[in-house]
Amino acid sequence: MQVKVNGFVVSSDVLNKRFRPCNFRTCGNGCCSDGALVSTDRIKKIKKILPKILVFMRPEAVKMVKTKGFYINSRFSRFDLDPENEHYFTRVVKGKCVFFKYTAEGSCVLQNYCAKNNIRPNYKPPGCWSFPIDSVGNRIVVVKWKGLKCLEDSNVKNFPPIYKSCREELTDFLGRKGYRELLKKVKKIKKN
Ligand code: SF4
Repeated sequence: MQVKVNGFVVSSDVLNKRFRPCNFRTCGNGCCSDGALVSTDRIKKIKKILPKILVFMRPEAVKMVKTKGFYINSRFSRFDLDPENEHYFTRVVKGKCVFFKYTAEGSCVLQNYCAKNNIRPNYKPPGCWSFPIDSVGNRIVVVKWKGLKCLEDSNVKNFPPIYKSCREELTDFLGRKGYRELLKKVKKIKKN
């Protein structure tokens, strides 16, 4: 089952799979272990706040950023990425993105800094914000399946399907009206 709304195809994984709401302290932030996709636009923004956020980062990340920069040199490409920008992944140090650090407020230094300083939209990369869903072309899909407790079937039986638990993220892709339309279409399909 997949559903078309507002030019997007919402994949069957989004409609059927379940997601355990994030508990980063118990899962060890597996979703931050590969780094994050950042466009040159976002890189410019992050560079502006970088001197101020170094103090909140892990010492090993600061060392990495000072010597090599916060993103890897090889360019990443995918058919649907904005051609006006180049795209790169943030660097990983000791198994986590350079912007990762456990704190009481959360574990993304970019997110925490922007939230505290009222910087909107937040500089947290879009794929991190919408996790575990993302758009690839016109498809909305579930990303990063393997090794994440929040997405493992055995851990998530009692939680709602992703299209319900990620209402806010889906609304961002589809709009409020589009999200309501999605709910209606899914309800109709489930009845039949
Ligand atoms: S940018 Fe933030 S949320 Fe995204 S991978 Fe890095 S630490 Fe995690």
